[in-house]
Amino acid sequence: MIENTQTETRPSIYGLTRDQLIEWAQENGEKKFRATQVWDWLYRKRVQSFEEMTNLSQAFIAKLNENFIINPLQQVVVQESEDGTVKYLFMLPDKVMIETVLMRQAYGLSVCVTTQVGCNMGCTFCASGILKKERDVTAGEIVSQIMLVQKYFDERGLDERVSHIVVMGIGEPFDNYEHLMNFLRVINDDNGLAIGARHITVSTCGFMPKKIKEFAHENLQVNLAISLHAPNNALRTSLMRITRNAPLEKLFEAIDYYTETTNRRVTYEYIMLSGENDSPEIAQQLADLIKPRNKLSYVNLIPYNPVAEHIKYERSTKNDTTKFYDVLKKNGINCVVRQEHGTDIDAACGQLRSKQIKKNKANIA
Ligand code: SAH
Repeated sequence: MIENTQTETRPSIYGLTRDQLIEWAQENGEKKFRATQVWDWLYRKRVQSFEEMTNLSQAFIAKLNENFIINPLQQVVVQESEDGTVKYLFMLPDKVMIETVLMRQAYGLSVCVTTQVGCNMGCTFCASGILKKERDVTAGEIVSQIMLVQKYFDERGLDERVSHIVVMGIGEPFDNYEHLMNFLRVINDDNGLAIGARHITVSTCGFMPKKIKEFAHENLQVNLAISLHAPNNALRTSLMRITRNAPLEKLFEAIDYYTETTNRRVTYEYIMLSGENDSPEIAQQLADLIKPRNKLSYVNLIPYNPVAEHIKYERSTKNDTTKFYDVLKKNGINCVVRQEHGTDIDAACGQLRSKQIKKNKANIA
């Protein structure tokens, strides 16, 4: 068995928003501008230790060290794909593992972050849910994923910035709402990483429609994606058991509230699963569901990344995908067939992590 030798109890300072950092500094007898200096060291200069913050007093550095660490993640595996996708496996202080994916897009560097260690949503096609949730990933640990990917570029002298974020890694972000919100506010802060809200997408399976309503009032221009995958409750329940508690009527009531409140467009993720959800009849049902909301909707048809443990599911053929797409188009639905990245390096959610954990178990056995 792997020993759990966790001794680190200090949280990562990356988990604090700028306002929270200022408040903490003031509570500890420091002026506001000292906190903004720390913020600058963390996100502009991107130092890895408090000692490198040379314009702070020794006493303040000691205080920071007493209360916080900077980076809580350790890099375990890095895999680079032929198309430039990079997959990172990180170990957290309590020895659990998470994965992060970097995708090179025409518009810049996009990072896919993990929000929970494992997942309890139980979607039948997904690799993440094979390992149940052990704990939430803290805001600081989510920010760190981006900082380490950025470091990977900084260290190679590459003048490239992480410019886009998708919250689509392992876990259900709305099941870890407080940490998610802190993470979003940290990376979006103009004085730090300044990743534009319009360049950030949060994806949810919609298990708690009331969270979608709450999200509408956060005053952030972040994009919302809904993992839909089926246009009726029976089919959706067979793929996503959370539909039982959050049927489509409730989900769409919340989505309609969100679009009315924010006037922002919602993206619908739709994985194409051969023989399951990819017939022209189902396409018509999907079109009927989206049509009244079409002005603020966008449907992404996604090629399925096969998962060894879920042999039941196969990727839809090109022909079926085209037919499905044509039905949506004929109905005037805004939609696109999405390109895939990193299939050769297990980039589907949770694949690298579950392989590594199996390998560890095999080595130990
Ligand atoms: N829990 C959140 C975010 C993580 S999943 C959510 O459900 O949205 C991110 C996206 O990847 C979801 O749309 C999910 O359905 C999809 N996904 C999961 N497994 C996949 C696979 N094997 N191939 C393609 N997409 C997958």
